[in-house]
Amino acid sequence: MAAPWVWKDGEVIPLAEANIPIATHSLHYGAAVFEGIRCYDTEWGPAIFRLPEHLQRLFYSASVFHITIPYTAEQLTEAVWRVILENGTKNGIWNWYIRPIVYVDSGLGLKQDYRTRKISTAIILESWEKSNNSRGASVQISRWRRIPPQSTDVEAKIAGNYANSELAIQDALAQGYDNAILLDLRGFVAEGTGENIFVVRRGIFLTPPRGTILSGITRDTILTFLHDQGFTTREEALERGELFSSHEIFSCGTAAEVTPIVRIDGAIIGAGIEGPFTIMVKKRYDQIVHGRDDRYRDRWLTFIPLPREEHGYESIEEETAVPNSKMS
Ligand code: PMP
Repeated sequence: MAAPWVWKDGEVIPLAEANIPIATHSLHYGAAVFEGIRCYDTEWGPAIFRLPEHLQRLFYSASVFHITIPYTAEQLTEAVWRVILENGTKNGIWNWYIRPIVYVDSGLGLKQDYRTRKISTAIILESWEKSNNSRGASVQISRWRRIPPQSTDVEAKIAGNYANSELAIQDALAQGYDNAILLDLRGFVAEGTGENIFVVRRGIFLTPPRGTILSGITRDTILTFLHDQGFTTREEALERGELFSSHEIFSCGTAAEVTPIVRIDGAIIGAGIEGPFTIMVKKRYDQIVHGRDDRYRDRWLTFIPLPREEHGYESIEEETAVPNSKMS
């Protein structure tokens, strides 16, 4: 469920008023760019996981589409804080999924040329309960192939790119699966519909290389901490058949976090249950996003400065506390 307050073009407004006209260009042509970010509850109050990296990708996605976002990264950071503070906690917990979207507004008619159209920016929040995914997911290898980098920028989070993901996931759901894995045009494993894929074989972590995937921030997080812990990780092309012979598979993404995959096209993977390496990665990820790992806390978490009277949290270091919003 979306939170009651939305940030739109510099103002916080009620969700019911944050609507778009039916002729909105982006609705028809997929020319919108967006992000999926998480705010987690920590001992020091609400913290946003890898916010600068997400905003950097938002600006990159917009640049691919020749869209100029009418705000700076600093202004969007403050906007994210503001809408979170406005919505407050859900049952006393600061866990939010954050969805900034930049889109081409309606203009005169339905012509595709949007050079003179208004660019709008909105930030929507959703409160997500912590999902228990230890049962593991059953996925389908999709009949749809991942769109090639010659046809779009697969590293950009462009709304139109998600037609590819939607075809795959809706097919999978209709056939009773939880999700889908897409192969690339050559037949190598690309990624999930909104997640990257890791395979574990003899304690080594393998993940498809950049090229035909959106190489996610979660994928980078996992590669980084596994490497720091001394595990062997390799970014290499994986044949479809290698999925079936692997010991464990998990998907990862901002929304999915770390999700075990225990069945593919009905075949059992490994022991058919969440494996020990997946459990370890899930635990580490959970500790890191909740600020319980000193090594990554200041590096990857942006703490939201709370108005003094509201928080009973331990105070945040001076340099991690950021000045209050100057925006209206
Ligand atoms: N692949 C696709 C197609 C996605 O939509 C996402 C979600 N953004 C991911 C991978 C994972 O990216 P991240 O870890 O940055 O959320």
